[in-house]
Amino acid sequence: MVHQKQVSSVLNKHKQRDSWFLTEYSVNPYEGCSCNCLYCYIRGSKYGENMEDGLAIKSNALKILEKQLLARAKKGQYGFVAVGSATDAYMHHEDKWKLTQGMLELLLKYRFPVFISTKSTSILRDVELLKQIDQGAILPDDLKRKLNRGAILSVSVSSMNQKITNILEPGAATPEERLEVMHQLKQQGFLAGVNAIPTLPFLSDTEEELERTISAAKKHGADYILVGGLTLFGKERADSKPLYLNFLKRYDPALLPEYERLYGTNFFPPKKYLRKLKEKSELLSRRYNIRTSILTEHEETANGNPASTQSELF
Ligand code: SF4
Repeated sequence: MVHQKQVSSVLNKHKQRDSWFLTEYSVNPYEGCSCNCLYCYIRGSKYGENMEDGLAIKSNALKILEKQLLARAKKGQYGFVAVGSATDAYMHHEDKWKLTQGMLELLLKYRFPVFISTKSTSILRDVELLKQIDQGAILPDDLKRKLNRGAILSVSVSSMNQKITNILEPGAATPEERLEVMHQLKQQGFLAGVNAIPTLPFLSDTEEELERTISAAKKHGADYILVGGLTLFGKERADSKPLYLNFLKRYDPALLPEYERLYGTNFFPPKKYLRKLKEKSELLSRRYNIRTSILTEHEETANGNPASTQSELF
């Protein structure tokens, strides 16, 4: 059942730029998500065990977003906007409600750059809109010297094993379909890559499975692969940690003690584990000649070639 709700704000400003995705803002057209991933960090009693049941359409979102974008644009406060940070911008309901499309039209109008990470094939519907954003967005001053485009598009892949993703991400496209979407985005000339976030301990973080993901990303033309660990929140029945541990109980109970050792009562794996995951993924990414950040090393240190400026807008 889909609810409608009114919101007073829709453009969230981050305290600082996200170092991985380069985003400074986020917008979420929907509350909840029909992809229904068991490990989703937004899971909890607020949304219930099946997030689709608690799904809400922010029915006045476009009106509010326009006001907020106009105010930011007037002050020259440009920055990448993550479209769908607590929902998949292209989950099933987007086909009917088209709120994401409406938001992209506003982001284009006010010339804000966008970052999207999706598990859906529906992003291909908006290719022409995204191309215009890519070419016309105004970047923050320091990024003008490093990046000359306004759209960064990722597909999210936690595992290449479809038996696992069918259970963990029941409402999402298959990993192969997502990679095919990314391939098509690359063919359309976008900066595009893979978010292997979360990578699943003992399931997709082994050398063999990581290589499977990284080599598949490379084969499909990804510009980058971002590898990150799994967070598991909460204690209530509908929270991600109990749901995920229940999945393990059915899928491979032998892994339960391993997870107990790794997480204990924490929501995050230890820093040592994350360091090792980073080392492993960087080694493999070098082997497959694919970078582990959105910017290239050259772009990280570049100093010239500003893209468009604010004065071109007003
Ligand atoms: S696609 Fe993202 S927002 Fe949607 S359920 Fe999965 S993890 Fe959560």
